[in-house]
Amino acid sequence: MRLLVLDYFLKQDSAVSLSDLEAYFDYSDRTTLFRTLKTFEGKGLLHKINDGHTTAYALCMEDCSEEQHIDSHIHFCCECCKKIFCLTKVKTPKIKMPSHFEMEKLDIVAHGLCGECAKLRE
Ligand SMILES: [Zn+2]
Ligand SMILES: [Zn+2]
Ligand SMILES: [Zn+2]
Repeated sequence: MRLLVLDYFLKQDSAVSLSDLEAYFDYSDRTTLFRTLKTFEGKGLLHKINDGHTTAYALCMEDCSEEQHIDSHIHFCCECCKKIFCLTKVKTPKIKMPSHFEMEKLDIVAHGLCGECAKLRE
């Protein structure tokens, strides 16, 4: 199962939503899928993206490890094809939090049209 999931992710050019994963791996039970995703997240192989209504997973390309995820990049959600992309070259800006607030993670999801969809609109 683990190899299947990893293999699937390696073939994707964008993040994969949880519903797509469930549909793709429908022959196996959801519990195993969830457990696999959690394991990969814990190992620094996958990171979770949440754009407010969809949960998606993408491969980690930076030096994530078991101890820490450093996916400090912005995600882009295409409103047309609904794909979520890792913009690994666009780093999340450093934001100063008010004192007493300890920020662990900053999720920035940009919305719009991806390259492919923008081309179709022209
Ligand atoms: Zn990561
Ligand atoms: Zn698109
Ligand atoms: Zn990402």
